[in-house]
Amino acid sequence: KTNDPFCVNQTINDTLPLVNPELKHHVKVNVSLNEVPTVLGSSRKLSQVLINLLVNAGQAIHSHGEINLSTDCHIDADGRKWVVITVADNGCGISQHAVDKIFQPFFTTKPVGQGTGLGLYISLAIMKSMGGDIQVVSRMNQGTTFSLFLPDEPSRL
Ligand code: ADP
Ligand code: MG
Repeated sequence: KTNDPFCVNQTINDTLPLVNPELKHHVKVNVSLNEVPTVLGSSRKLSQVLINLLVNAGQAIHSHGEINLSTDCHIDADGRKWVVITVADNGCGISQHAVDKIFQPFFTTKPVGQGTGLGLYISLAIMKSMGGDIQVVSRMNQGTTFSLFLPDEPSRL
């Protein structure tokens, strides 16, 4: 099932329980799901991307913090409609130097054995395979926001 219509809100609701054990002791996850169009692709693969982002966010929060997870509909300058999933943490942030490299395979700032540096590389490949993309905005010591974009293409249904 790699090219089925699915609702990203459902995928998020199915995925959150999987990461709760990793996060709940020190991170509060605030979820704000808005009505979004159906997208085409693999819900399971999107779930893997969400797990990667949520685990990263949890690891970026050292003592206590929050993750804001939301979905929205966005129309770009060319009039194309996108479903946007935002994962925003108030963790350590990413340095200007590192942010250019985080999507490269094997780039990691984590201690040996704690990170493979493949999570974001694989996540970007998954999003591109569904016609989507990932954007990141980060500020050192303030936090990081990842935005996942998926095209709304009802004509392909
Ligand atoms: P890994 O988690 O194995 O290190 P990733 O590809 O998932 O590999 O992430 C690459 C690097 O990007 C991380 O090592 C970290 O430096 C940075 N990073 C990713 N997400 C975040 C985040 N939410 N906050 C701070 N740094 C992050
Ligand atoms: Mg990771």
